Amino acid sequence: MAMKITEDCTACDACFTVCPNDAIATGDPYTINPKLCTECVGVEEEPQCVLECYEECVVEDPDWVESEEVLQAKYDSLHPTANPH
Ligand code: SF4
Repeated sequence: MAMKITEDCTACDACFTVCPNDAIATGDPYTINPKLCTECVGVEEEPQCVLECYEECVVEDPDWVESEEVLQAKYDSLHPTANPH
């Protein structure tokens, strides 16, 4: 499942720099590209943007339900040299 940012976003920039997939775009509100978000699977145990958000406005996107395996495959495709098989 990809994450998404709600209208409560204050554009504080806290999430922007921690995303390992460059999935977050600045704006009002900031947005997450679900094709790039892996819920941090492949890198971290928990979504880093969720941990960093002071407003707690990063939530699961019900329109992008994906299994751990699918998220890992997405990460591998985004970073082909990070996890050579
Ligand atoms: Fe980026 Fe991880 Fe947040 Fe997805 S969950 S937008 S990969 S920091």
